[in-house]
Amino acid sequence: MNVYGLIGNPVGHSVSPPMHEAAYAELGMDASYVAFEPPVDELDAAIHGAKTLGIAGLNVTIPFKQDVMAYVEADPLAERIGAVNTIEFGGEGDPVGYNTDAVGITRSFEHHGVDLDGKKAVVVGAGGAGRAAAFALSDAGCEVHIANRTVDKAIDLGSQVPHASGGSLDTLESQLDEASILLNATSVGMESDETPVSKELLHDELTVLDAVYAPLETRLLREASEVGADTIDGAWMLLFQGVEAFEIWTDRDAPVDAMNRALREQLDG
Ligand code: NAP
Repeated sequence: MNVYGLIGNPVGHSVSPPMHEAAYAELGMDASYVAFEPPVDELDAAIHGAKTLGIAGLNVTIPFKQDVMAYVEADPLAERIGAVNTIEFGGEGDPVGYNTDAVGITRSFEHHGVDLDGKKAVVVGAGGAGRAAAFALSDAGCEVHIANRTVDKAIDLGSQVPHASGGSLDTLESQLDEASILLNATSVGMESDETPVSKELLHDELTVLDAVYAPLETRLLREASEVGADTIDGAWMLLFQGVEAFEIWTDRDAPVDAMNRALREQLDG
């Protein structure tokens, strides 16, 4: 049996185990996915232990996404983003680290028939998800503007990403006018009815993806719908980062519909 898993702290409410287990059941695979919660100062033991025990692959979440880079050979995209959320074990050398949040974003737009090439995109947030979003959208051919509460982080990220700029949350007003993509990569709206972008700035030429997935319909997405914009909820990004990890680990096409059903059952419940 192949064992896959997730390391993070805390991982109690993770929806990844049922999503991946649904894929194994759908394809009749002899595999299992387990959530592990090592103490925050014992990442070294966790990674070496996983390798020694023959674990085939691990997802990585808060607070280990940056620190884990010391233990893996990061692929070029993960290296640029500065974070790894998927590890593939098994070879002779170091485990390989990927960032599937970035691919999760582009695959979410692709799935909804949105062509990113040549579009103007605005990313709100410059933390882990914001970095993945900015690189992913730039690589897909967008001109990217990053707006963040801590302005220096936005400007710094804007200088690292090709065809990008950064600024304060006040720059949203001028930047959103000509944008056709808006991506919320802040935690604003998570388990609350707050929004990072006021409704007056939204318009019907936008496709809005919210990385926040609890609730599934955030205030941002509700207000975007109200002005006639297209919306993509955060479960799609979560789904496609998992789909990408599954495909890296198994070299098989993921059963996307089965994974989506299992994920939405968890998030709706
Ligand atoms: P992070 O690294 O801690 O970054 C948090 C971001 O939110 C920063 O840009 C921060 O701004 C901003 N922020 C926090 N509170 C704010 C407020 N009150 N007003 C304005 N900005 C605020 O977190 P992360 O890992 O990027 O995650 C961000 C969100 O994305 C979380 O809700 C997470 O659950 C979600 N996410 C979803 C997926 C998915 O698959 N759907 C994947 C990854 C993350 P400062 O820089 O000024 O602090």
